[in-house]
Amino acid sequence: MAQKIVVTGDINGKLSEFFTKLSTLQIRQQFAFAIIAGNLFADPETTSPSEAEDLAKLIKGEIEIPVTTYFSVGRRALPETVIEKLDSSDGELCTNLIALGRKGRVKTSDGFNVVAIGGSHHAGDDPMDPYAAKYSDKDANTAKGYNDADILVTSEWPAGVRDGSKGAVDITEPASSEALSELCSTLKPRYHFSSSETFWEREPFFHNTDPPRPITRFLSLAPFGNAAKSKWIYAFSLEPSAEPPQQLPAETTASPFLLTRKRKALDTQQDSFNSMRFANTNEPRGRHGGKRRKAAPTDPGQCYFCLSNAQCESHMIGSIGEDAYLTTAKGPLPKLTTFPDLGPSFPGHILIIPVSHIPTISSIDDAESRTKVEAEMQKYRTSLHNMLSSLSKDPETDRARLGAVTWEISRSSGVHTHWQFLPVPAELIAKGLVEAGFTVEAENSSYPTKFATSASDIAEAERGDYFKVMIWSEAMQKEMVLPLDASFRFDLQFGRRVLGKLLGLQERTHWKDCGQSKAEEEKECEAFKELFAPFDFTAQ
Ligand SMILES: [Zn+2]
Repeated sequence: MAQKIVVTGDINGKLSEFFTKLSTLQIRQQFAFAIIAGNLFADPETTSPSEAEDLAKLIKGEIEIPVTTYFSVGRRALPETVIEKLDSSDGELCTNLIALGRKGRVKTSDGFNVVAIGGSHHAGDDPMDPYAAKYSDKDANTAKGYNDADILVTSEWPAGVRDGSKGAVDITEPASSEALSELCSTLKPRYHFSSSETFWEREPFFHNTDPPRPITRFLSLAPFGNAAKSKWIYAFSLEPSAEPPQQLPAETTASPFLLTRKRKALDTQQDSFNSMRFANTNEPRGRHGGKRRKAAPTDPGQCYFCLSNAQCESHMIGSIGEDAYLTTAKGPLPKLTTFPDLGPSFPGHILIIPVSHIPTISSIDDAESRTKVEAEMQKYRTSLHNMLSSLSKDPETDRARLGAVTWEISRSSGVHTHWQFLPVPAELIAKGLVEAGFTVEAENSSYPTKFATSASDIAEAERGDYFKVMIWSEAMQKEMVLPLDASFRFDLQFGRRVLGKLLGLQERTHWKDCGQSKAEEEKECEAFKELFAPFDFTAQ
């Protein structure tokens, strides 16, 4: 049965005031228990006489604690008198007030598992007092053995938790550690609480396991009574050890800890390449055997390009910005040997995808958001160009050997628009073969429309559905747009078909002929991330 739980940030020694407030809330809310995720006590350096008096009263049991309350060790040392009392009372400071300790787990009377790692990160491995305000990597590692947790409480933040979040811009990350990120990835708690000067709540994130996937919500609470009135208390309902949801909440992202480039994918399980995710189309998953049908609009929960979708292949994500992200392509067109400049493990095929579930960029109503999405997709494209320039620089000519082609199918009936990015030899571009390749293939396919190449014709063509090609080399940039209409059937593999012919890779036109194991996909994505890291503007 779901229970109400309440969590706070720092109390900083305002003990009477806080517990009076909690008593008032308790009358109405009937919380099962409370957690203080920050510092309960005042800073010993600046303790006022009234705070010292409160502390003495608390230890003597003269302040009423209205509900079972667990408190974190916090980021600074506990007062000596508190430690003495805890040592002699098995962690219960007074009736209803229980210390979570430097590292520990409690099972509440309602059956919730609460795991806590308190204090600041300590590099050494020397033995520490159970109530010392520090933890070592060893503590965090041992805590992984608790296997699961409904609630994880850590004084510091898990490193990288802001990665892949849209709301992360104006928050300074407090002290954090990788050990806590790993702990969170292992325990997969439903809630992870910490404390900070300002309240911050991350979008929920899912862990990369088989569906249904566990979701973690990370919240960091501000201090009680803070002048800025930042949220310091958070109440919620939870059922102990409930199964993960079948449907992911709309805002859910992939786990930030999987996106950080240093980390290896946790899930090494082999995938038999049975996914229907097309590298070249944005059609919804077929649900009717092999038969193609006119599909109903696909919702984000069934869309391969929505990060909120449990089917989203997070092991292929290379970078996540605010409005767009990059993945390596499933069934890439080039072989690992096609572009030796890219090294032995990355074929070069990338998808640039808006985070929002939109059929076309022009379908975003709000002009400001529309510009922002397109600008970030272009920013990714430019960063990829910079990567190619750097990797393929010919020392003799000081020119990049590689240029790139980016193509887009923009149809109002589309599911989740995206751009495909592919390196091509700069020589092919210089000779006009890329442009010619697209033009000739459209003619050979007897398409009734022609590529627009002037700015005014392009603007006209982009008013409706279209297929767009953006060609780049260090020497030139060019766009060409083919209007699409209902009078003909446009081949969704068109871009891949043209480039397959140009690169002598016709046999790889269909992504299904280019299948990779999940381990190969992971290796490819890791290789890409390493190459892209110096150019990734989201990494700063
Ligand atoms: Zn989508």
